[in-house]
Amino acid sequence: MHLVATLALAGAILASLASAHPTPRAPSGHDHIHANCLASALMSRDDYAHLLRKRAAPVTDWSYEGATGPAFWSTINPNYTTCAMGTKQSPINLTPAETMSAAAPLTFMYPQTFAEVEVANLGRTVEVVVPAETAFIMRDGVSYSLVQFHVHAPSEHHVMSNQFDAEVHFVHRNPADPAALHVVGLFLSRSTAAANAPGKSMISWLDTFLAAVPAAPGEMVKVPNFPIGGVPALLEMSGPYWQYEGSLTTPPCSEGVRWVVANAPLTVSGSTISGLHSFMPFNARFTQKNVKP
Ligand SMILES: [Zn+2]
Repeated sequence: MHLVATLALAGAILASLASAHPTPRAPSGHDHIHANCLASALMSRDDYAHLLRKRAAPVTDWSYEGATGPAFWSTINPNYTTCAMGTKQSPINLTPAETMSAAAPLTFMYPQTFAEVEVANLGRTVEVVVPAETAFIMRDGVSYSLVQFHVHAPSEHHVMSNQFDAEVHFVHRNPADPAALHVVGLFLSRSTAAANAPGKSMISWLDTFLAAVPAAPGEMVKVPNFPIGGVPALLEMSGPYWQYEGSLTTPPCSEGVRWVVANAPLTVSGSTISGLHSFMPFNARFTQKNVKP
């Protein structure tokens, strides 16, 4: 059955994305974005219940604490040696030693809405998997397609030794070279200063995302008419931008990942941050020194 095959494929893709960053995989052939830009009304968790689909919780042999925590990733699996032996590991403490530019070094080509996304509670993070090759960034003449975005709390990158409440990673890959990844990072910072908060339309992607996350790890829900259009405008007002060449921040810690991290955090409510923590534990790798003997 086509539907079964589609679901199986979706499951396989989700499983491949179970870590905070994806193993590159062929495009899944999702439908193209519909032209209409129907605003996605916020739905309660109950509204999503009929769409909720159980799936096996992702199996990982690493974690963020104890004997399988970040300091030991390289020792628990021979595929993870780069976590210790790499020389361009992420995240890092961003300082003036890194490149920073006032203007975003990339351009966004995102639609206003995705026809349908998958919102997953992966236990270690919460994640939105988007339709293949429907949203792009362009950097130095190379096009990267948005694959998924997910959250770390607290932030993984630090800025001048300051850590933020959370960090969203928008993970893109070059369709012509699936090993080539480009991640765009956006900090979240809790504040009651509503005057600094962006407009609701600019963060509807975050509100819709958090309203849809299934409560139990290993569950996924399909969300129609997902509003992504606010993200480019939000990122474009969040500069200046840090740029460096780093790695995945989760095993296998593969290098060759291009990073752009917006310096200015998005101001969110305390309930947004506490909502994130209700879905996932601490999930930030410590900053990497990248000084090797
Ligand atoms: Zn990440």
